Amino acid sequence: SAKSRPKRANEPPSVRGITITHPEREVYPGITKLQVAQYYDAVMDWFLPGVRGRPLSILRCPEGTQSACFFQKHPMAGMKHVEQVMLKEGSGAKRAYLCPTDGASIIELVQFGVIEFHPWGAMAASPDKADRIVFDLDPADDVPWERVVSAARTTRRLLERLGLASFVRTTGGKGLHVVVPLRPAAAWTEVETFAKAFAMSMAQAQPEEFVAVSAKARRRGRIFIDYLRNGRGATSVASYSLRARDGAPVAMPLRWEELGKLAGGAAFDLRSTVARLKRLRRDPWSEMASMKQSLAHAMRVISQHS
Ligand code: ATP
Ligand code: MN
Ligand code: MN
Repeated sequence: SAKSRPKRANEPPSVRGITITHPEREVYPGITKLQVAQYYDAVMDWFLPGVRGRPLSILRCPEGTQSACFFQKHPMAGMKHVEQVMLKEGSGAKRAYLCPTDGASIIELVQFGVIEFHPWGAMAASPDKADRIVFDLDPADDVPWERVVSAARTTRRLLERLGLASFVRTTGGKGLHVVVPLRPAAAWTEVETFAKAFAMSMAQAQPEEFVAVSAKARRRGRIFIDYLRNGRGATSVASYSLRARDGAPVAMPLRWEELGKLAGGAAFDLRSTVARLKRLRRDPWSEMASMKQSLAHAMRVISQHS
C-alpha cells in the first residue's frame, strides 16, 4: 500500500494521501504546515460532520498567519479531492462553490494554505433552506468575558422560552456563537426575519447590555448580537476549525455546563484541542444530529409577544 511504501530521503510527507509541500513552513510561530495538516487529521472525525456537504468559505494564508490571509468562496485550480457545487449567486448566475466530502478534501485544502473553515448554515443539496441559526455574540473591546458568558446564557434561556434548544461554542476569538439546529430546515427569509426579531427584542429588553445594529459607535460597552450570520451565503466558523490568530486558537463546541470554567473565547488551541478530544467520549453537540425542532412554532410565539 501507499502507506508501507518506503520513502525516499527527500520525499515530502503525505497526510490522508495528500502530499504536503513545504511541510516545514512556519504557519504560526513554532507551528509548521505539516503540524496544521496533522491537527486536522487528528480531529477529522469531530470536525468533518460540521462541514461535510455544506458550501464552504475558506481563509487561506499561503505564506502563514503572519502574512496576508484572504477569504475565498470559490474553488481554485488544481484541486482534485474537493467537490464543487453550482449555486446561484445574488445576481442569479450560477457559480462553483467548494463542498468538502471527506478527510482528503480537508487535507487538500490545508495543502492549498487553508487555515480556517467557514460553512454555510445550509446543505449544498438544499441551499435555500437553513438547518441552523447562529447568533454571533460580538463583545466590544471593553466588555469583560463574564458578560459574554452571561449573554450566551441569556440567549439560551430566551430561545428555550420559544421552544428552541441551543448549543454554544467558542470562536477562538473574543466572542461566542449560540447555535440553534432546525429540523425541518426553514426558508432563509423566515430565518432572517426570526433572527432579526430575536436580536432586536434582546437589545430592547436590555439596551445597556445588548445592541442589534452593527454600527461600531453604538457598540461601546455592549455586546452586538450579530444576527447577520443568517442568510443565504453567510457563514460562521466551523467547530474545531483553527483560527489564523495568535496562539493557533480553535473554535470549540462546549456543553453549557463547561462555559463557566473558561478563561475566554480563545481558551482552546491546536495542542489542547487534541488533548481534550482524547478525553471526551462524545461530541458536546452530539444530540444535535437527532434533534427535531421547527422554527414555525417559535415564529408563532415571538409574533404573539410583539
Ligand atoms: P469573534 O468571536 O472574534 O467575533 P468570529 O468568528 O465570530 O470570532 P466575526 O468577525 O464575528 O468572527 O465573524 C463571524 C463570522 O462571519 C465568521 O466566523 C465568518 O464565517 C464570517 N466572516 C467574518 N468576516 C468575514 C469576511 N471578511 N469574509 C467572509 N466571511 C466573514
Ligand atoms: Mn463573532
Ligand atoms: Mn460578527
